[in-house]
Amino acid sequence: MASTALIGLGSNLGNRRAWLEGAITALDASPGVHVVRVSSFRETEPVGGPAGQGPYLNAAVAVETTLDPAGLHRTLQTIEKGAGRTRSVRWGERTLDLDLLLFDDRIIETEELTVPHPRMNERIFVMEPLAEIAPEAIEPRTGRSVSEILSQLVGDRRTG
Ligand code: ATP
Ligand code: MG
Ligand code: MG
Repeated sequence: MASTALIGLGSNLGNRRAWLEGAITALDASPGVHVVRVSSFRETEPVGGPAGQGPYLNAAVAVETTLDPAGLHRTLQTIEKGAGRTRSVRWGERTLDLDLLLFDDRIIETEELTVPHPRMNERIFVMEPLAEIAPEAIEPRTGRSVSEILSQLVGDRRTG
């Protein structure tokens, strides 16, 4: 049985659009992975990390996959490496970041992988594109839908 996974994409170095488009093509070409939905690409200001980084281009995709979560995560890391991603400064600038946000309604805690992604519920730059492609998806830690989480986030920002 295939699973549905939701993936967040980000780039703030080089040809950002080309990194995101290349990642989506590479994902769809990976064995056991089919891209079924793609959000718009949105420009966002960097959050956290060192000062002086350029703006990000962010997106989200939905995939159907026969891989398990660890296998899909390895695929994401291989695609990041193919985009010249090197890991140095935490939250520093990068050509490509591929984060596994949700995998069906599963909760996963291993050394390499935490799903749902632990910081997604606080990030407008993640939840906005996600809500475009999967507003009804349930975040299993809170039992709330992506659109509910986003409305609350946007509301919290307005009311401070
Ligand atoms: P953030 O996790 O806050 O978005 P980041 O994406 O910049 O930061 P990375 O450098 O891409 O962080 O990854 C750091 C580590 O996070 C990796 O070693 C990876 O194994 C781990 N990780 C844990 N859970 C996930 C997940 N759901 N998706 C992607 N990587 C994850
Ligand atoms: Mg990230
Ligand atoms: Mg990451």
